[in-house]
Amino acid sequence: VINQLKMEFLSLPANVAFARVAVAAFASQLDFTLNDLEEIKVAVSEAVANAIVHGYENSPTGIVRVLVTLLETGVEIRVEDNGKGIADVKKALEPAYSTDPERMGLGFVFMQSFMDRLHVDSSPARGTRITMIK
Ligand code: ATP
Ligand code: MG
Repeated sequence: VINQLKMEFLSLPANVAFARVAVAAFASQLDFTLNDLEEIKVAVSEAVANAIVHGYENSPTGIVRVLVTLLETGVEIRVEDNGKGIADVKKALEPAYSTDPERMGLGFVFMQSFMDRLHVDSSPARGTRITMIK
């Protein structure tokens, strides 16, 4: 491990923009291209927005945790919530699948295409943990 950042913040929409900038600034300690950093920003935004909108159903009192680990081989980003969890992860990962008819269902598609690896751990009782590597 080269360096590590741990953040906790309330599930407020304003913190989506904060998290994306903070994670990208931290990750820039590795030699990512500007394009890589833009992709990391999008992936972090999507994961944090999901925690707020779906995990905590827009309640502003939830805690979102973000853990960024810089490794020799790249960056690992975890986004965790203790919200309602995902009943069917396989289905949630399908392109254009959303439980909200007004949404596009593209968040996981962006995370998958902009990061090298995506792993989703979730259970309806505990919450959701997204792990992404680039
Ligand atoms: P978009 O991201 O395009 O606005 P979306 O958020 O519905 O739409 P995805 O981000 O791909 O699409 O997520 C797919 C589905 O997975 C969501 O509709 C939601 O049901 C579920 N989901 C994703 N993240 C969480 C989470 N942290 N907690 C609970 N459910 C989640
Ligand atoms: Mg989403």
